[in-house]
Amino acid sequence: MSDYHDVVIVGGGIGGSALAATLAGAGIDVLLLEQSEVYEDRVRGEWIAPWGVAEVRRLGLLETLLDAGAHYLGRHITYDETRTPEEAEARTLPLGIFLPDVPGPLTIGNPHHCQTLFDAAKRRGAATLRGAVVTRVTAGAAPSVTYLLNEVERTVRCRLIVGADGRTSRVREACGVTLHQNRPHHWFAGMLVDQAHDWPDDLQAIGTEDDFAFLAFPQGAGKIRLYGSYALDQRRRFSGPDGQTLFLEAFRLNCAPINDAIAAGAPAGPVLSYFNNDAWTDEPFVEGVVLVGDAAGWNDPIIGLGLSITYRDVRTVHDVLTGGTDWSPAAFAPYAEERAERLRRLRFTAAITSTLDAEFSPEARARRRRYFERSEADPSLGMHAFAVMAGPETLPAEAFTPEHRARVLD
Ligand SMILES: Cc1cc2nc3c(=O)[nH]c(=O)nc-3n(C[C@H](O)[C@H](O)[C@H](O)COP(=O)(O)OP(=O)(O)OC[C@H]3O[C@@H](n4cnc5c(N)ncnc54)[C@H](O)[C@@H]3O)c2cc1C
Repeated sequence: MSDYHDVVIVGGGIGGSALAATLAGAGIDVLLLEQSEVYEDRVRGEWIAPWGVAEVRRLGLLETLLDAGAHYLGRHITYDETRTPEEAEARTLPLGIFLPDVPGPLTIGNPHHCQTLFDAAKRRGAATLRGAVVTRVTAGAAPSVTYLLNEVERTVRCRLIVGADGRTSRVREACGVTLHQNRPHHWFAGMLVDQAHDWPDDLQAIGTEDDFAFLAFPQGAGKIRLYGSYALDQRRRFSGPDGQTLFLEAFRLNCAPINDAIAAGAPAGPVLSYFNNDAWTDEPFVEGVVLVGDAAGWNDPIIGLGLSITYRDVRTVHDVLTGGTDWSPAAFAPYAEERAERLRRLRFTAAITSTLDAEFSPEARARRRRYFERSEADPSLGMHAFAVMAGPETLPAEAFTPEHRARVLD
């Protein structure tokens, strides 16, 4: 293993492994350092929005994911306690309408997704290390990364460090890049269920009833990634030895009888809960270092866009690194500007979604009923959904103003 590489990538999750694969494919000398020996289910993103699928395709990784078993979804239903199941099902939304040549969102288990990309990076010629924990990062004109592997410390020098080390990024901290965060809106738990064979493989669904809002994204062959939102004062709702059973039972809703197929399934992973909030950085770079994915700030998972955001980051940074010889901070300024506006728009969209779908008071219920009724007459009320599906840049600026928010939440 050489002690110099053009690029050293810290973190072999989705962002780091995807970037390593594409840079190595373009002939750049890259070292990928991943601390885990085995990817585990940490309850992370497994649903890629259509605009994220388009980014995967632009990166030349779509066939890799499809060969690994990634699964397209074709239909969406929004269930709600303010309407009957039949009324909800009559409004089934086809998911191939958002972008040309994208049949719909793509789902793939996160640990398998990470391993698939890590293997692709290795196959395309990246130097890759597992069990390598990065302990020190030095930015500046002569960047270097120190990692611990098998209790031996090594330092590698490089031209550029990419911080792809997730929410608690050590690289971000070492560079002094400030992370802004907003307040959590609710709890968000997730779990993988298997043997839910009565659930249609091509159907994703969401819904709200009483004090619970669910999301269900099938992965094929009876596996479904489940998420559930609930109030901040119910911290321990799904903790303890019965957590998985309680979580599955929470899906039994009068407004969505189809969910009985979920409740009858078998837990296939841990149930883990997170605060729903957003985080962002103003400039995800310093001299000698650039951040991608969650390390550069994340979006509230309620709209399921962290993977799409990460893939766009990877594509943008890939284009800078393969497009010329300038890897100075100035070369990343357009990335910072585009990302800041992208995350601002998605923060706005997530906040509307959280307010609408994950508040549980009688007023919130009445607001949802009004929203459903009014958006039938005026579909522009629901245009923020296009930011989720087709990408935030596809909408006019008015969709992200207090006026639009007031109209939606009237
Ligand atoms: C509950 C929940 C649900 C979500 N659902 C969705 C969804 O449906 N769709 C979606 O698009 N997004 C979703 N997301 C967001 C999505 O999972 C993330 O945005 C995405 O995984 C970010 O990828 P990443 O590569 O930046 O970071 P990560 O996936 O966190 O990868 C970081 C990697 O860095 C490694 N690492 C960290 N520190 C070190 C170190 N010091 N040395 C070496 N390696 C290190 C880690 O081991 C890890 O492999 C969800 C998030 C949460 C919390």
